[in-house]
Amino acid sequence: MRALVWFRADLRTLDNAALCQASKASDGGVVALFVISPGQWKQHDYAPARVDLMLRTLAELSRSLGQYNIALKIRVAKRMADVPGVVAAAMKEFACDALYYNKEYEVDEVRRDEKTAEMVKQASAKVFAQTDQCLIEPGEVRTGEGKFFTVYSPFKRASYKHFAKEGGVKEYAMPKKQHGMVGTADAVPTSVDGFESSVDAAHWPGGETYALKQLRSFAEKQIVPYKATRDFPGTRGTSMLSPYLAIGAISPRQCIVAAVQANTLAAKSNTSPFESGPEGITHWISEVLWREFYIHILVGFPRVCMHRAFQPTTESILWNDNAKHLEAWKLGRTGLPIVDAGMRQLREMGWMHNRVRMIVAMYFTKNLFLDWRLGEKFFMQNLVDGFLASNNGGWQWSASTGTDAAPYFRVFNPLTQSQKFDSDGTYIRRFVPELRDIEDDAIHEPWTIPGLLRSRIDYPEPMVDLGKTRERAIEAFRDIKGVNAT
Ligand SMILES: Cc1cc2nc3c(=O)[nH]c(=O)nc-3n(C[C@H](O)[C@H](O)[C@H](O)COP(=O)(O)OP(=O)(O)OC[C@H]3O[C@@H](n4cnc5c(N)ncnc54)[C@H](O)[C@@H]3O)c2cc1C
Repeated sequence: MRALVWFRADLRTLDNAALCQASKASDGGVVALFVISPGQWKQHDYAPARVDLMLRTLAELSRSLGQYNIALKIRVAKRMADVPGVVAAAMKEFACDALYYNKEYEVDEVRRDEKTAEMVKQASAKVFAQTDQCLIEPGEVRTGEGKFFTVYSPFKRASYKHFAKEGGVKEYAMPKKQHGMVGTADAVPTSVDGFESSVDAAHWPGGETYALKQLRSFAEKQIVPYKATRDFPGTRGTSMLSPYLAIGAISPRQCIVAAVQANTLAAKSNTSPFESGPEGITHWISEVLWREFYIHILVGFPRVCMHRAFQPTTESILWNDNAKHLEAWKLGRTGLPIVDAGMRQLREMGWMHNRVRMIVAMYFTKNLFLDWRLGEKFFMQNLVDGFLASNNGGWQWSASTGTDAAPYFRVFNPLTQSQKFDSDGTYIRRFVPELRDIEDDAIHEPWTIPGLLRSRIDYPEPMVDLGKTRERAIEAFRDIKGVNAT
C-alpha cells in the first residue's frame, strides 16, 4: 500500500496523526502533498504574514520529511473548488491507494474534504481522516442531555474527565522511516502572489523546530509565573505560540504534554496535573482549552462559520455605519492610546496581546458600536495566528453575541484597562512613538495634557465619549429579548 498524506493546517512531522498512521500502514512508500490554494486563502481572509509563516514552515517540513524518505510535493489549486480535483489527480500521479489527512472543522473545509473523499473513493482508493487539530474529537464530550457544551467551565471539567479516563493526553509516535523515496521533493515557493507580507519574518521564525524550542523554553521558564504575567502586554508573559498552533507547526497535545511535564508538584502529590499544581500551569492549560472549546462550538453550531451570531436574537442589533471610525480604528488613530497601541502592534507584528485584543474588540463593538463582523474580518486579514474558531469566539465574546460571552452590561473601560494593565505605559510607548515622552499618568489620556505641550504632539483627540457610548450600547442590548443577561 502507498499512502498520500495531505498536509493542511498540520505542518509538522512530530505528533502528527495522519503522518504517523500513514507511515505505519504503508509498505510501498509515502508521498506528502501540500496544495497552494490562493483562492481559498483570499476567500478566508488569510493574512500575508500567516501565508509567509506557512511557506517558511513548509520549507522546513520538506527537509524533515526527507529524513523519513518522504518527498513533499507541491501543487496549486487556484480556487477552493479545484482542490478536490488536484488531490485526486496527485493520488493517481503517484499511484497511491490511500489518502490520509487530519480533519479541519470549518464548514467550507469540511465540504471540500467530503468532495475530495468522494472523488478518491470513486477511484477505488481508501480515505482516512484523523483527529489531530483538537485534543478531543468535537462531539465526544457532551452535556448530560447529549448536547454540545455552550459554556466553557463545564466543557473544561468534562474535558479533564475525558483525559483522566484516557490515561492522560498522549502524543502520536514519530513517523516511520520509509524504505525508499517516491520521486523527489518539489521546491517550496518563498512567496505567493497576492500575499506579500510587510511583517518582519524575524518576529516569527518558521518551522516546527523553532515552535518546539519555544514551547520548551516557555514550559521551563515562563509557565509557572504565567497567571501573574499573562495580562500585562508590556511584558513577555505569554507563550506567543498561537501562530504555530494556527498552522499546526505545533500541536495542542504537545502543548499539554509539556505543561503536564512541567507540573512536577502535581506529579509528586499524585493529583490531576490539569487542576492542581502551580496556578500558572493549570491556567495555561485552561487557555489552550479555550481554543478547543471554540473549535467544538464551530462544529456544534456551524452558523458561526457563516458570519452569523451565536445568539440569534442579537442579529437584530442595528450597528453603526461609520467609515471614518472604522478607518481610524484600523490605522490606530482613535485617540485612545491603548487601543491605538494594539492596532499598531497588529500592523507591525501581525499579532496582538490577548488583553489588548479584548480591549480593542470591546471598544470597537461597544463604544464605536460597529458590527463585530467587520472587526473579525480585519483581524483575520492581518493576524499571523488567524484561526477562525478562536477569532470568531473572541469577537463574539467581546460583542456579547457569542457563547459564554461577556454580558452586555459589563463593558470594559479602555482607560481603566490601560491604567491597570499597562500602568507605566511601556506597551503604549513601544507602539505609539509619538507618546514616548509623555509622563506615566498622562500617557493613558493625552487629552488631559495642558495646551502648549499638547499642541506639539501629533496625536488625535478621542473620537467618542466613553461614558455616553457605553450607555448607548447597553441600552441597545437591553431592548433585545432573550439576550444573555447573566
Ligand atoms: C477579539 C479576539 C480575537 C482573537 N483571535 C484569535 C485568532 O485569530 N487566533 C488565535 O489563535 N487566537 C485568537 N484569540 C485568542 C488569544 O488572544 C490568542 O490565542 C493569544 O493572544 C495568543 O497568544 P499566546 O500564544 O501567547 O497565548 P497563551 O496565553 O500563551 O495561550 C496559549 C494558547 O492557548 C490558546 N488561547 C489562549 N487564549 C485563548 C482564547 N481566549 N481563545 C482561544 N484560544 C486561546 C492559544 O492557542 C494560545 O496560543 C483572539 C482573542 C480575541 C479577544
